[in-house]
Amino acid sequence: MKVGIIRCMQTEDYCPGSGDFAAIRNKKGGFAGVEEEIQILGFANCGGCPGKKAVLRAREMVKRGADTIAFASCISLGNPVGFPCPYADKLKEIVKKDLGDKVQFIDSTH
Ligand code: SF4
Repeated sequence: MKVGIIRCMQTEDYCPGSGDFAAIRNKKGGFAGVEEEIQILGFANCGGCPGKKAVLRAREMVKRGADTIAFASCISLGNPVGFPCPYADKLKEIVKKDLGDKVQFIDSTH
C-alpha cells in the first residue's frame, strides 16, 4: 500500500502526526488488516478551513504514486483535542468525488 495522508491544518500545533505513523507501523486503527508493506507517499494538511485544498493535495499524492488516501483522525474524530472538523463530510466527499475509483480511502487513521 502506498498511502497519502491528509490531516487537519488546525491540529498541526497540537500533534506532529505520531499517532498516524504508529498506526501505520503497527498496522492498527485504519490500517488494521493490511497485510502488505505500507509506504508513506505523502503527509499534507487540508490547506486550512474550509478544506477545499485537500482535493489538490490528495490529487498530487496520487499523481506521485499513492494508491490510498487516508484522512487522519484529527479530521473526523478531532484528535487529540476532541474537536472534529466541521467540514469533514464535505471535505472527504469532494476528495472522493475527484479521485473516484482510482484509489481506496481510509476514513480515519487511529
Ligand atoms: S477544514 Fe477541517 S480539517 Fe481543515 S483545518 Fe479546518 S477544521 Fe481542520
